[in-house]
Amino acid sequence: MAILEILHFPDPRLREKAEPIANIDRDLETFIDDLFETMYDAPGVGLAATQVGVARRVAVMDCSDDKNTPIVMINPEIIETGELVDVDEGCLSVPDHYDSLKRYEWVRFRAQDRRGETYEMEASGLLAQCVQHEIGHLDGELYIDKLSRLKRERIRRKREKAERQAAKS
Ligand code: ZN
Repeated sequence: MAILEILHFPDPRLREKAEPIANIDRDLETFIDDLFETMYDAPGVGLAATQVGVARRVAVMDCSDDKNTPIVMINPEIIETGELVDVDEGCLSVPDHYDSLKRYEWVRFRAQDRRGETYEMEASGLLAQCVQHEIGHLDGELYIDKLSRLKRERIRRKREKAERQAAKS
């Protein structure tokens, strides 16, 4: 297993639309293990392949308090949603920023697990938020896209300044 480098906004690779996965092979399983290790290490509750520069439709999540409920989503799609509600959100690819936005309070989604078995799951609360957030990543979207352009520009300038300072030290 390995800890992968998480890309930060405004890295253009975060804007790639991930390709569907046809074959679940050893390499993919290793990659899924690496995603989990990277997510738990960060620490975060979800991580999509696009966040580590791999444009394939796979993401991992664990929204449990005890970090013992790993969920793999391969080729995920949302098939039913509840009402939109206000939530606070952050992202490992947008460090040191949290904001409030609207998400569906529950979703029903379909995906494949790490063995390639198709499953459906209804998620609510933080897990529902996470499912929407990670699928957004696979479509090249970031949660800050839902904020005003002014706010996004402010975050971009803050990020660029932070990256410059990191490069100097
Ligand atoms: Zn994210």
